[in-house]
Amino acid sequence: MDVKKLAEEIKSSFQEELKNFENGNLNFEDLKNKFLGRKGLVADAFSQMRNFTDKALAGQILNSLKNELTEKVNSLTENTSSAKTKKLDLSLPGRKPNAGTLHVVTETQRQIEDIFFAMGFEMATGPQVETDFFNFESLNFPPDHPAREMHDTFFVEGDVLLRTHTSNVQIHAMKSQEPPVRVIAPGKCYRNDTPDATHSPVFQQIEALYVDKNVTFTELKGTLDAFVKALFGKATKTRFRPSFFPFTEPSAEVDVTCVVCKGKGCNVCKQTGWIEILGAGMVDPNVLEAVGYDSEIYSGYAFGLGIERVAMLKYGIPDLRLFFQNDIRFLKQF
Ligand SMILES: [Zn+2]
Repeated sequence: MDVKKLAEEIKSSFQEELKNFENGNLNFEDLKNKFLGRKGLVADAFSQMRNFTDKALAGQILNSLKNELTEKVNSLTENTSSAKTKKLDLSLPGRKPNAGTLHVVTETQRQIEDIFFAMGFEMATGPQVETDFFNFESLNFPPDHPAREMHDTFFVEGDVLLRTHTSNVQIHAMKSQEPPVRVIAPGKCYRNDTPDATHSPVFQQIEALYVDKNVTFTELKGTLDAFVKALFGKATKTRFRPSFFPFTEPSAEVDVTCVVCKGKGCNVCKQTGWIEILGAGMVDPNVLEAVGYDSEIYSGYAFGLGIERVAMLKYGIPDLRLFFQNDIRFLKQF
């Protein structure tokens, strides 16, 4: 057998397959294996060594064939990897990672919490699945009390329900410690409401409670005044209107000067210049007695507000449902 002829055949076969590789019809590994692999054409030619008459010459020819093809194959890898490098253009602007942010309701909740922490309140939490005792009875809602009807309750089973307000945390907090108690309790509440622009079956409240000796209504007014000024701005004024809650006596609804028109009158405040923001009052002696406090010695105040409502006022959001639709275009604005 003529070793030169064999080498030429392998070379021309390589040229053919090289075209296939360049056209994308053959991948790099297959090309390399076909010629330089353990069972490739070059190895096959070496294995026929004993058939060649001049073995020394055959060795030279095959070695130089092997070197030539190895060099060509190696240059292909270099070209391919430099082609890949070219695709990475380091002068292009970087891609911004899509980092999340706090939800506007969470952010508002934290702002409110920070104001109260600065005034010396501590965080308290309680269960969202609650018994009638903690949600109603201990808060001076006797059975059949008409005020219960204001709370369209989701019942779980028997007297177990989803809490309708965060006021249950007041009871847990007072039952677990002696006065002074100075806590805030933020969290989810549930009422059987049909969702609309101002109602949702799930919403967030934050409640504050302070019980000690000689706590007065004046302190409640002072605390609320400082709170709304910190939240809505120094020029904000408060107004107290008499109201009714079973767990406070006396009770008040608290208005603030409209955050939109600053009290001049606009659509948001229905031209009154005032916006209702929270409910407040002095803790009813029956509630203090229900947790074992002596209402002759101790007194306290409590108030609660809706966190979504604060966020709506602060950021001019017209519809409560926007908070829960999770439209990224809405959420990104805050
Ligand atoms: Zn207004």
